[in-house]
Amino acid sequence: MSDSREFCPRCGDPVDERVEKRPGEPRDGSAVLCDRCYFADFELIDAPERAHVTVCGRCGAVERGNRWVDLGAVDYTDVAIEAVSEALSIHINADDVEWGVEPEQVDETTIRMHCTFSGVVRGTHLTEQVTVPVRIAKEVCDRCGRIAGGYFASILQLRAEDRPVRSDEANKAIEMVERYVADREQDGDREAFISSIDRSNEAGPNIKLSTNKLGQTLANRITDHFGGTVDDYPTLVTEDGDGNEVYRVTFVARLPKYTPGDVVDPEDDDGPVVVTSAHGRLKGTRLRSGQRYEASHEDGTTPEVQKLGRIEDAEPTTVVTVEDDHAVQILDPETYEAKTVSRPAFFNPKAEVVPVLKDGIECYILPEESV
Ligand SMILES: [Zn+2]
Ligand SMILES: [Zn+2]
Repeated sequence: MSDSREFCPRCGDPVDERVEKRPGEPRDGSAVLCDRCYFADFELIDAPERAHVTVCGRCGAVERGNRWVDLGAVDYTDVAIEAVSEALSIHINADDVEWGVEPEQVDETTIRMHCTFSGVVRGTHLTEQVTVPVRIAKEVCDRCGRIAGGYFASILQLRAEDRPVRSDEANKAIEMVERYVADREQDGDREAFISSIDRSNEAGPNIKLSTNKLGQTLANRITDHFGGTVDDYPTLVTEDGDGNEVYRVTFVARLPKYTPGDVVDPEDDDGPVVVTSAHGRLKGTRLRSGQRYEASHEDGTTPEVQKLGRIEDAEPTTVVTVEDDHAVQILDPETYEAKTVSRPAFFNPKAEVVPVLKDGIECYILPEESV
């Protein structure tokens, strides 16, 4: 028995073998110390004097290593806790470790972290408290720096054929751009941003974007929605360090000349048409008959037509009587005289009021759902 008995190399006391080491555990220098000597300079926690967190003062992104990450953090307590837990180390001989932290906001840039640890070492339950101040440094992330510096890689120009872009079209297109870029950002793409939106040009807005890919994708999405075509005009701006040419591309999303809601007259004796689609070629509904209209393939979206107005120009007009299958009597919206007009197939015979567009002395009933 005395063969296996050992003594503490520091104080010479006999060491209790049961707690000296667990089976299979490597015997390091401290393993042979008695409990008293072992715990005399034992530290459960190795904590740094302070920890640092760098956040972007503009967008709130947090710097991790050499990357910026959007955390959508409202306050930085969680980020500070994370910074502390990364900077701390817990003694490897401790089992059943638990820890809790109480943050104390000292001022805008300092959070003091009061941490309490507990663990089991050599069968003894230990607790230790450390306080680590976390300093929050505000900088400007690379992305915000580029936005502030007016950086852009492509320009998306919204234009329309032979006419200025209407404000409702501009609003819709800008909303599409903002939503798409916001979704990219939401997905963690920090390369995607809008540098500027300029609505001062009467022909249509110019939108500066962070990448050529964004310009291309958005120009396509806009013309998928409205119809129209996309042209791109690359301009060589510089060569990068490896001698590759760097292009800035202007994408022109050109909306069709006529769009849904326009009332146009093809002057082919079948009367005016309310446009319903300008994808590929102009399509619509004849106002006299309610029959379908489609421009020829060669004419595409720009047949020879006379524009009479838009559905927004229609006036709510009183129906006097339905005369027969082909005629309705209405009150002329300007003169209030009873007037007989063509009855289109889309006319609802129960309607008391219908939208009417006047062109010269002619009145046309418009489809209800188009107004
Ligand atoms: Zn000892
Ligand atoms: Zn930022």
